[in-house]
Amino acid sequence: MDIGFSVIYNGIKDAISLTKDANSLPVLRERMALVQDQLRVAEKKYSELEAENSDLLRENRILRKEKIELEDRLNKLDASPLFVDIGPCFIKKEKSGRILDGFYCPKCRTILEFDTFWTGEHSEGRYYCRCGFSHPYDVIMKAMKNCTTENFS
Ligand SMILES: [Zn+2]
Repeated sequence: MDIGFSVIYNGIKDAISLTKDANSLPVLRERMALVQDQLRVAEKKYSELEAENSDLLRENRILRKEKIELEDRLNKLDASPLFVDIGPCFIKKEKSGRILDGFYCPKCRTILEFDTFWTGEHSEGRYYCRCGFSHPYDVIMKAMKNCTTENFS
């Protein structure tokens, strides 16, 4: 129910002018009852709005906190390095262009380990992954060199 502020205002105004005439007491009583009703409506509405406002302020605080957390996560996502395919494997590159140390498996994207293996005739340096991927050191170094001169210069 809307608050009849004009009823309250006019009721008080009429009451003031009705006090001049003693015969208008019943009318004055009627107007004051009307003003009283409207003040009750106003009081109820004020309580409802106060509760609603309190809920909205609480919700707003939560949303502001979530917004800050999401902005923070978004900034971290932008800063996280991306995988770049260099042929035999992946490398990680930051948005700034800086290439991070290490080579990554093209199958499972785990960082590759390095070791020297005996082929039966000579020893060979190889990058390998636990998933079974393996590539010679020379091939990966060549791909890395081509990649940095072609794409990152
Ligand atoms: Zn792997």
